[in-house]
Amino acid sequence: MKKKKKPNYKLMRTIAKTILIILILTPIIYFNRIRIIHVPLQIKYHKYSDVVNSLFDAKYTNKEASNTLDKLIKKEKINSFTDDYIVSLKDKGYSKNTISYVLINFKPGDIKSLINSKYDKDIETMIKISYFDYNNYDRYLNYRKDTEDIKRTVLKVQLDLDKDSYSDTVEETNPDSLTALISKHRYINEDYEPSDLVDMSDDYANNYYRQMQLRTEAYESFKKMVDAAREERLNFYAESGYRTFKFQKQLYNNYVNNNGYAKANLYAARAGFSEHQLGTAVDLANIYTIDETDAEYEWIMNNGYKYGWIFRYTEEWTDLTGFAKEPWHIRYVGVDVATKMHDEKISFEEYWIKYVNKKEAK
Ligand SMILES: [Zn+2]
Repeated sequence: MKKKKKPNYKLMRTIAKTILIILILTPIIYFNRIRIIHVPLQIKYHKYSDVVNSLFDAKYTNKEASNTLDKLIKKEKINSFTDDYIVSLKDKGYSKNTISYVLINFKPGDIKSLINSKYDKDIETMIKISYFDYNNYDRYLNYRKDTEDIKRTVLKVQLDLDKDSYSDTVEETNPDSLTALISKHRYINEDYEPSDLVDMSDDYANNYYRQMQLRTEAYESFKKMVDAAREERLNFYAESGYRTFKFQKQLYNNYVNNNGYAKANLYAARAGFSEHQLGTAVDLANIYTIDETDAEYEWIMNNGYKYGWIFRYTEEWTDLTGFAKEPWHIRYVGVDVATKMHDEKISFEEYWIKYVNKKEAK
């Protein structure tokens, strides 16, 4: 007699469980897909589905893929190469996060260059810095040091500090601007003289050897700052203000004669490379030249920005300026710029790279 087979309950339970799981998961997956797919109606379907597939090939989750797509669509960054870029960058070793960043923020030419360059882990950090410039890719890698923050390296290369001082110099073509940058790579034309220089009164400057001058706006603001300090029983005045190209040349040559070239380059600026020619820089004294230990120095550190004045050459920034610290040298950049620098705790060099140079480049 044939024995009736007992139903396989174990198998049935497994099948039932599987069906249940499929029933629960399908709508979740389906609706997520829908959310991704319904957005870019304006983009041709084949382009779009290739990109979606590439993102999933690069192991993006639904959410990551959806976020990246939204941003790409918003910036109109999807073209027939986008899926190739994703695959190539992934093959190079770039992370999902970096790939998305590059797709969203880089121009196609720069993406292609990145794909053709050798992969480097530090580049993943560098390319996310707002002032990263693809043209300097090799310079960043050559100039980096283990002891230095990568962001600092990028900033220094942007400032040409990987090059020798006074080499590859460029003329500051807008010296009237309050944010003109004069450095060991940027100079002012020999003939430049501000058109709004005014004489400083004896109340605010030592005019014994020379009549001190500043640009009008800088002088008005300087007087307000000195008056405010005097109300708190601190006193300082200008020991040096505007200097002509010719006068700076004499100063520099005297310094070289007395101290030699190496010291002169650290402590004195060559003619054309001094901020004093802008008419917005001042050297300060109380009785003696201002030093870091003076109460006046601390007061200006805390309050100068409210009047638009900043220190240019501090200990912290010597690697960015190329000059030894000068606690007596201040510069007028206007209240907005000085306040932003104060709030972000950044040097004028970094401010210039972040906010001025970028505008000039466009
Ligand atoms: Zn100075």
